Amino acid sequence: MPPVHSQTQLLIVGGGPGGYVAAIRAAQLGIQTTLVEGAQLGGTCLNVGCIPSKALIHAAEAYAQARQPSSLGIRCEGVQLDLAQTLAWKDGIVAKLTGGVGALLRRHGVTVLQGWAELVDGKTVDVRGAEEAVQRIRCEHLLLAAGSTEVALPFLPFGAGNGRVVSSTEALAFAEVPRQLVVVGAGYIGLELGTVWRKLGAEVTVVEAQDRLLPAYDADLVKPVAQSLARLGVKSLLAHRVEGLNAAGDALSVREPSGALIELPADKILVAVGRKPRTEGWGMERLMLDMNGRAVKVDAQCRTSMRNVWAIGDLCGEPLLAHRAMAQGEMVAELIAGQPRRFEPASIPAVCFTDPEIVVAGHTPASAEAAGLKVLQASFPFAANGRALSLEAPEGFVRVVARADNHLILGWQAVGAAVSELSAAFGLSLEMGARLEDVAHTIHAHPTLGEAVQEACLRALGHALHI
Ligand code: FAD
Ligand code: NAD
Repeated sequence: MPPVHSQTQLLIVGGGPGGYVAAIRAAQLGIQTTLVEGAQLGGTCLNVGCIPSKALIHAAEAYAQARQPSSLGIRCEGVQLDLAQTLAWKDGIVAKLTGGVGALLRRHGVTVLQGWAELVDGKTVDVRGAEEAVQRIRCEHLLLAAGSTEVALPFLPFGAGNGRVVSSTEALAFAEVPRQLVVVGAGYIGLELGTVWRKLGAEVTVVEAQDRLLPAYDADLVKPVAQSLARLGVKSLLAHRVEGLNAAGDALSVREPSGALIELPADKILVAVGRKPRTEGWGMERLMLDMNGRAVKVDAQCRTSMRNVWAIGDLCGEPLLAHRAMAQGEMVAELIAGQPRRFEPASIPAVCFTDPEIVVAGHTPASAEAAGLKVLQASFPFAANGRALSLEAPEGFVRVVARADNHLILGWQAVGAAVSELSAAFGLSLEMGARLEDVAHTIHAHPTLGEAVQEACLRALGHALHI
């Protein structure tokens, strides 16, 4: 059957946070927009990423709280987990949010095509939906927002061992709590989901190739997380090398640093060793775009090496974060509408939703030093913060990094309960070019965790009040 032809000003491939935000913003600016999504609107983030993982983190914490002895005088007897209900609740949140994205796109007049896009050239895309007919679409601007996929280990492929070896997608929907879960990779996904299943009752062992947990993060920030994992009973095997399934296919063979080979019996093995841009299987190579390793190379306006072909989000490589994808999507829409924009954020905050949480924004003391900057740094511990104590969360601290000469704030780090919410204050202070004095002289409501932010600045200035 000959392809159906249609024409659009902007064609977006991928309806994840990058693509759908770009579509909404473009439509707001009067750009005729078509968005093609092969799976579900909302992408990795809403369907099998940020949202379902955070829902499970919350549910697992509620269950763990109900089960653990409490010093608050609260006793719960006979606490039970109805995992099917937990998963249904999580799926309900996903459905609500993805349905909301669909409604927003419709309301803005975006044409949404359900189907897989195949690039023909920089202005022509074929879309294959459920029916046989292929739609051929011509566009003035092409925005690539196809996201990323999980990295597989060649010697431990997904599905091996009768479905024992899984990715994060399956680990967000185990039908029952695994008795023994082995997690390969102590990064974001490994620790977030490892903690979930431990709190829900699994025996969890984390195997990490490097010699510490969350190797991409500052060691001081990771310490409270490592302590908490040990308290929870999560076993961490660091500097261990995964070799594959054993002969029986029911355990993971792992090489210890000493060279000895051990076997870790497991009914599930979560491989979480990173994600890679989705650059294959949809004709992207036909465009012969300049690449940056496995990622599409873009400039500060998310332009690729081909005129009027743009790329955003995970497809462009690190950092693989939903808020980065959204910010880029919004910017590209505004550029196409003729607005002067560049993607030069003062920081892209990152949060690890471990227990406790970690948040970083801007420079750490080490990265500032590596950049040749002379800095001041100061930390304020949550052990001296009234709100943290009243939340039974005295662990962790807030740290500020500022230029030594003019006190311009260059970065923030925090670890502690609910510190993800401090990322807004951190991002804002960096984006607005705040100095230590600006934050130190801002009245922070009492009692809040945010007072630790103010106190860190006061401490950097040499006059902390509560320590
Ligand atoms: P995606 O969300 O991957 O969307 C791409 C979309 O394109 C997909 O829907 C896909 O189906 C579609 N697509 C691909 N190819 C085609 C084609 N040829 N035709 C049609 N459609 C196509 N980030 C955070 O910031 N915070 C978190 O807490 C967080 N938690 C995460 C937890 C997990 C378990 C995972 C896996 C990821 C998490 N992330 C988190 C990362 C986050 O999900 C991604 O950074 C984000 O989704 C990237 O957005 P994107 O729009 O670039 O791509
Ligand atoms: P990651 O890069 O965070 O961690 C991967 C870990 O696996 C690293 O510690 C690495 O040293 C280890 N590793 C690599 N190969 C190994 C091997 N053969 N054996 C043992 N360990 C090995 O990757 P991820 O956890 O898969 O997450 C993927 C991406 O998704 C992240 O880059 C992140 O951007 C995004 N994500 C973000 C959040 C969040 O923002 N809270 C949550 C989940 C995922």
